[in-house]
Amino acid sequence: MLRLDLARLGREGAVRIEASVPPDDALLDGLESSFDVPVEIRLRGTSARSGEVIVRGSIEADLRQPCRRCLEPVHGRLSAEVTLVFVPAGPSAEVEDDGGVRFFDERAGELDLSESIREELILAIDPYVVCDPECRGLCPRCGANRNIETCSCTDEELDPRWDALRALREE
Ligand SMILES: [Zn+2]
Ligand SMILES: [Zn+2]
Repeated sequence: MLRLDLARLGREGAVRIEASVPPDDALLDGLESSFDVPVEIRLRGTSARSGEVIVRGSIEADLRQPCRRCLEPVHGRLSAEVTLVFVPAGPSAEVEDDGGVRFFDERAGELDLSESIREELILAIDPYVVCDPECRGLCPRCGANRNIETCSCTDEELDPRWDALRALREE
């Protein structure tokens, strides 16, 4: 789906790629729970005189992530600008990824963008969302959501070291 037609890029100089990726698409494996609705991807690939392929565009999606403290869903919006530069791997070189530099095989008919877009998505999603900076989270002992109820657990009971202290004091 996210493939850039290199022959067309050669002919036309620029190619647009627009995709609406549903949450169950393989591209979003492991990330699917973050989205309710398709991830909208709009890209434009151009070829530079030096042979590089430059892909610029945006990724937009509605997010639904669990609050890190209370696990209630937090709705947000992902809006990321991307710029990807692919360097020709050369006639004999193996196509391989080396850190930040992306290579592509000029002889191939197309350039697969899915892994790069997946990486951009992972970087763009903040995994540490909270529903509110004041969120009180779940009680680690009984699991009660402390934003909506007050449980009878006390912090003292949480730490087993206190039991030893109390036992000493009662002797
Ligand atoms: Zn919360
Ligand atoms: Zn509790």
